[in-house]
This record gives sequence, structure tokens and C-alpha cells, in this order.
Amino acid sequence: MANMLTIKNPATGDVINRIHLHSEAEIEAALKRSHDAFAPWASRDAHDRSALIRAWADKVKAHQDEIAELMTRENGKPLKESRGEVTYATNYLDWYAEEAKRIYGKTIPANSPAKRIIVSRQPVGPVAAITPWNFPVAMMARKAAPALAAGCTFVVKLASDTPLSGMRFIDLAYEAGIPRDVIQYVNTSGKVAGELFTKSPYVRKISFTGSTSVGKTLIQNSADTVKHVTMELGGHAPVIVAEDADIDVAVEQTVANKFRNAGQTCVCANRILVHESIADEFIEKISVAVKGLKVGNGLEDGIDVGPIINEAGYDKIKAQVDDAVDKGADVTAGDQYTIDRKKGYFFVQPTVLTGVTLDMTIMHEETFGPVAPIMTFSSLDDAIEIANDTPFGLAAYFFTNDYRTGTYLHDALDYGIIGWNDTGISAAHAPFGGMKESGIGREGAQEGIEPYLETKYMSIGGFD
Ligand code: NAP
Repeated sequence: MANMLTIKNPATGDVINRIHLHSEAEIEAALKRSHDAFAPWASRDAHDRSALIRAWADKVKAHQDEIAELMTRENGKPLKESRGEVTYATNYLDWYAEEAKRIYGKTIPANSPAKRIIVSRQPVGPVAAITPWNFPVAMMARKAAPALAAGCTFVVKLASDTPLSGMRFIDLAYEAGIPRDVIQYVNTSGKVAGELFTKSPYVRKISFTGSTSVGKTLIQNSADTVKHVTMELGGHAPVIVAEDADIDVAVEQTVANKFRNAGQTCVCANRILVHESIADEFIEKISVAVKGLKVGNGLEDGIDVGPIINEAGYDKIKAQVDDAVDKGADVTAGDQYTIDRKKGYFFVQPTVLTGVTLDMTIMHEETFGPVAPIMTFSSLDDAIEIANDTPFGLAAYFFTNDYRTGTYLHDALDYGIIGWNDTGISAAHAPFGGMKESGIGREGAQEGIEPYLETKYMSIGGFD
């Protein structure tokens, strides 16, 4: 249907809804309204903005189950994960409602008694954001909350596979009293949004979460108008399990991280490097744990792993598994599939691959699926070299109970996020983001509001 977007449930292939696709003229008008709303919003006092963001958070908390169910229908993730994501997204609203009140300037001692130097912070201007389908509300909230707190206005293009929960989340901002032009969503293809956002004279900042290839295009296209950019891009996370690691902890944490959202997260373990002396025990235990995961429709009770988001995602996963098996990997769990290309659902049984080697594609490309490839190592320095041998630098994990090994690994790994005996690293109060081709900037914590602020300095003379 022309000018309509059809949203399907990836667990069944059933149509959930059809929504209006915005025309280019409508998107340009939204950007203009964002520009016009900027000055009044920026000049509102910080306590007022804070109270409105807090009211938004309260609305979301009251509608958590409704948004979570919508998210599971459009994304497929188990309901317990959707509820967790709504809480996680709301934490950003709560955090930045407070940070709105803590945007401090400073004074600098001048080099003359006749002068004063004052530094103040101002919002960068209207922000245009593009977000992915794997965390449909959290990836948007962690941009919108600091943007609004800083005094920026915000327009987001939500992912075409999963716009519904994000739209509902933003509707609650209006119900909380945030003016309609301060935060808006538009529905269109990524390509159209990217072009309109980057060329718009009204937009001062692009904030993107998604693949590295799209991020590069957006950076290039932002150059003409020298827009600020925040980029949260792809990852290829290593997990290093050292000789002295607590194997039970390593298995439990790795399974929790690897199979969350059916392995479709940017911080998912993608290369599991295990010391050869403990590899047999680790493989046996992780294979048992993975075989115990229940796959199915995320709306049903007891489901641990939902469907893959779409056919392209499934094809990439299957190709990586087939490539690894062709090159000699063993399967100790999974490598089974329930799919229907015509209806459009794709379930991948959580899979463990062992005997993995560096010539396999899975060791170089993000999988975005529930597949755990395991390779052994004999020296820690070899593991570090393998871990760092990638253009990505988002999240890395290691397991050791030796503080010297842990500190050595922390210092040596070129990653923006490190988990030591811990893989649950996402939190509104911590700075999330990647090095190298995994991104530019940080989201969350005090650092997360900085990208939405400009620094203005004023030198005042005449005090003599
Ligand atoms: P994607 O293809 O880059 O899509 C993400 C968003 O970009 C969607 O809204 C998409 O719109 C839009 N898009 C697509 N093509 C575009 C273009 N040419 N110009 C502008 N926007 C465009 O990424 P994905 O495969 O859906 O998402 C998974 C990726 O996101 C993975 O690489 C993952 O690691 C990364 N990710 C990173 C983080 C982080 O914080 N670092 C967090 C989550 C995910 P449509 O939906 O309309 O195509």
C-alpha cells in the first residue's frame, strides 16, 4: 500500500499494524518545527525541563506492560526482556531529568585584573536521530533524554521493523506535557531520513545507532554542514576466559550476554576465547546451558530466545554457521532452524561452535544471532592480540580472579566498555560507547549529555 508501512510479528509473520509513512515534505516540515521550537525550549529553565522529563518517565512506568507487549510483538524478544528494556529506557529519563539541573559553566582566572572570563554551556540545537530495531525504545531514550535535558529539540526516525513501541513511548511524552514540536518521530526509510536529516539546515546534530556502514555514510554526509555527530555502531565483542577463571560464573555470564535478544545486540559476545587448560570443562558446561534455552514466541511463558528479526538477519547467521562448519568447526549445541520464508519467521536454535579458527567468517564479522563460537588459546598475549585484531572496539569481557591478569587485560584491550567477571554492562549511569569503527561519543552517565552541549566563552574587559 502506497505511503503505508506494514509492521509484522517476526514470531508468526502476522501483520500487526500499518502506519503512515511520512513524505519528504512532511519530514522537512517536522525539521522546521523542531527548529522553531528550539529557542523556546532552550530558554525554559532547567528545573522546568527536568520536571517534564520526570513526568514522562512516570507516564512510561505506568504503561510499562503495554509498551513491553507491543515491543515483543514487533521485535520478537521475550516479554521479560521487553519489560527490562522499558525499565532500562526509563532509567535514562530519570537520570537526565536530574542532569538537566547540573549543566554547569565555570569562571577562569584571567591574565589581567581588568578582565573576567566566563564559560557557559548551551544546547547544540535541533537534533535528528536514527535508531535500530534491536532495542526499539532504549536506543531512542538514551538520545532523547539527554537532548531534551540539555535544551535541544529532537526528531527521530525509528527503525522500519519496529516503530510501534517507540511511537507509543514518545506519545507518552506528549501526555506528560512535553510540547509536540520538542520531540517528534517520522516514519520513512533509513536512506530517505539519512539524506533529509544530514542536508537539513535546521539540524545541528545527528545521533545514530546502527551499523557501521550506515554510520560512515552519515558522517560523510554531515560534513557539508559540519554537523555534530554521535555514532553508536557495530561491535564484535571478545570474551576471554583466563586459566584461573571461575568457570561457572564465566558460563552463566556468557550465556546471559550471548543469547539476550536472540544474540541481536551490539555488545553480544561474538568471539569466545578460552584458555586451553579449561576449555573442555567450559565447553561441556556452556553446551548444557545452551541446550536448556527455550526458543519460541516471546509472548509465551518461559521463552528465553525469540525469533530473528527478518530474513536477511537469518541468512547472515546461517551463512556464518555453514562457513564455520565447512571449515572444520564442531557443533556441540544447536545448528537447528525453524523457518518459513513465505510467512516470514525465522527461529535459530542457540548454537555452540567449537574448534573455531581465525579463517572463519564468524571471527571477523558481527553475527547478530544466537551463535557462540569458541576458540582456545595458550597464552594471554595471543588472546589479547586476537581480541584487538578487529576494526571494532565496543565491548570486551574477561573472566579471571587474578587482579594482575584483570588489570593487564583492562589496559591492553582497545574497547570502550569492559566487563570483568560481568557481562551486564549497560546502565543509564555509565558511559556506553565504542572506540575505532564502533563509534564516536558516549551515551549515558555525565558523559552522555556532553554531545548535546556547546561551550561558549566570554571575555569581559573594563574592570580596571
Ligand atoms: P542499520 O541497517 O544501520 O539500521 C539502523 C537504522 O538506520 C534503522 O533505523 C534504519 O532504517 C536506518 N538506516 C538504514 N539505512 C540507512 C541509510 N542509508 N541512511 C540512514 N539511515 C539508515 O542497522 P541494523 O542492522 O538494523 O541494526 C543493527 C546494527 O546496529 C548492528 O551493527 C549493531 O551492532 C548496531 N547497534 C549498535 C549499538 C551501539 O550502541 N553501538 C546499539 C544497538 C545496535 P530502516 O529500519 O528504515 O532500514
